[in-house]
Amino acid sequence: MPDTTPQFDFDFIVIGSGFGGSVSALRLAEKGYRVAVMEMGRRWTPKNLPPSSWYLHRWFWEPALALRGFFRMRYFRHVTILHGCAVGGGSITYACTLLRPADQIWDNGSWAGLADWKREMPQHYDTASRMLGIIENRILGPADKLLQRAADAAGVGQTFYRTQVAIFEPAHGQPGGVTVPDPYFGGEGPERTTCSGCGGCMMGCRHGAKNTLDLNYLFLAEKRGAQIFAETKVIDVRPLDGAGDGSRGYEVRTICSTARFAQRPRRFTCRGVVFAASSLGTMELLFHLKDRGSLPAISEQLGRYVRTNSESLIGVRVPRSAEDLSKGVAIGSGVYIDEHTHIEAVRYPEGSNAMSFLATILTGGRPGPGRVGLWLRNLCGSLLRHPLKTLRLLMPYRWARECVILLCMQALNNHIDMQWKRHVYWPFRKLLVSRGQRVPTFIPAANEFAQKFAAIAGGTAMSMLPEILFDVPGTAHCLGGAVIAGSPERGVVDARHRVFGYWNMYVCDGSVVAANLGVNPSLTITALAERAMSFIPPASETAWKDHGEIASPSSLRSQT
Ligand SMILES: Cc1cc2nc3c(=O)[nH]c(=O)nc-3n(C[C@H](O)[C@H](O)[C@H](O)COP(=O)(O)OP(=O)(O)OC[C@H]3O[C@@H](n4cnc5c(N)ncnc54)[C@H](O)[C@@H]3O)c2cc1C
Ligand code: SF4
Repeated sequence: MPDTTPQFDFDFIVIGSGFGGSVSALRLAEKGYRVAVMEMGRRWTPKNLPPSSWYLHRWFWEPALALRGFFRMRYFRHVTILHGCAVGGGSITYACTLLRPADQIWDNGSWAGLADWKREMPQHYDTASRMLGIIENRILGPADKLLQRAADAAGVGQTFYRTQVAIFEPAHGQPGGVTVPDPYFGGEGPERTTCSGCGGCMMGCRHGAKNTLDLNYLFLAEKRGAQIFAETKVIDVRPLDGAGDGSRGYEVRTICSTARFAQRPRRFTCRGVVFAASSLGTMELLFHLKDRGSLPAISEQLGRYVRTNSESLIGVRVPRSAEDLSKGVAIGSGVYIDEHTHIEAVRYPEGSNAMSFLATILTGGRPGPGRVGLWLRNLCGSLLRHPLKTLRLLMPYRWARECVILLCMQALNNHIDMQWKRHVYWPFRKLLVSRGQRVPTFIPAANEFAQKFAAIAGGTAMSMLPEILFDVPGTAHCLGGAVIAGSPERGVVDARHRVFGYWNMYVCDGSVVAANLGVNPSLTITALAERAMSFIPPASETAWKDHGEIASPSSLRSQT
């Protein structure tokens, strides 16, 4: 008998509305559950998105500083993590490059052998690709053509490829900027406008061409009755009625994330909870709840195996470039310069020149103080030899028009751990702190490629200043921390994303990923969430008795 008793405010509360959260919201609503999505970020539309990166208050998210945008940077000793914060999660700011990783990822990490991943996942990748509207990029901008020429010069021209993107692009030869009724969901979705190749995807698409989650999964979830609570931060989740395992439901407490003073605390009840607050957000929330005694049985493995990708940002600036290098889509193409090293051509839209303050002249050398010394020597030498040219290279004016950012990723098996501790610099409360081996900030092969690129483009290769000064790499692809595993001794959730130790509690976001993907992760997060939701029975059939199972690999395989 169904047990969706009316004393609960909702059947499921989903925490976070990014890739994992949006899939969960739609699929649960389709199965007949009453769903609420709590999202601490704001809703964005073409009308309130910032025209350029100079509108810091509408770009960055740091509400304590009155910055209420959709993009956040978090600083740790080992890594700077870039992520989204909005209704639609990272999809509002992401570059919409969606790639399938190689099959080998299922053979590595704590998820290996727990399911027949290679047989199961293709259908979920297909569903995710259809829902997100992925196509091969048809708009190659001047930066992509330069990347292709540089790859030819480096002898790796055959690896040049057009990215797979979630963008509503016009057919070949057709103009952008044309609005049509929903082209994706048989008329059920919103009307859309074709892409004009303005390069603005990471500042939020102001033309309705990027397939953000609020235009697909979340749009359809709301149509099926899911309620989205924007600017609502979850601060507590605890089992109801003294049943420590959550078998009698949960209480979820929230505050308004954008209010300075009156935080309007609210309390909701539900039978099931889906944590989908991203790798960093879910780790932070679960650590806090474990520590304060709300969810004490969360596995001790929380925070282990956080993967940051080996990433390095370099760039090439072409002063007085005849062509506008900001045109195209944010990431239009890529190349493989060796077996492990992948480079994508990235751009910001015209006028988004604020990033120029992070760029400086290319610097090699070993990470650490020696590299800082080398950078200072190079910079001073360049200023003395060519003062005007060097200043022109560093000034913000026309930066986005004249710059190609090269995002270099290496598929190496690096990982760090996160712990919940009082930081030596901030001992007043516990915070996430990173531990482990440093991930390299300097990838010599990438610097060499940037120099070839610069020679072909008639420009100058650039490095990112924070990578040199602090020897801390940045990543937009933080994964893991609550990984899938066969038991709580190895991870936080089982192969169906059910949290060990609790009933009807799931994690569906980047935190469950248990191996280095080597490619941009959002498609895999979406496909994994599709798979996780496929196991949840319809509301009319549920007994509300789903819980994380410690299973031998063989028994789990036979269940799936
Ligand atoms: C600039 C940039 C470019 C990127 N480009 C690409 C790309 O081209 N391709 C790609 O695959 N990936 C890209 N990424 C990475 C991608 O955005 C993430 O991998 C992806 O969004 C992670 O999905 P998720 O479901 O784990 O969580 P997210 O999409 O991050 O969503 C989590 C949501 O939870 C909310 N949240 C957190 N804590 C709470 C709380 N306590 N209460 C309520 N809500 C909460 C957050 O506000 C956020 O909206 C990019 C990222 C950035 C920053
Ligand atoms: S290139 Fe411009 S129009 Fe096209 S998806 Fe990106 S922001 Fe939208």
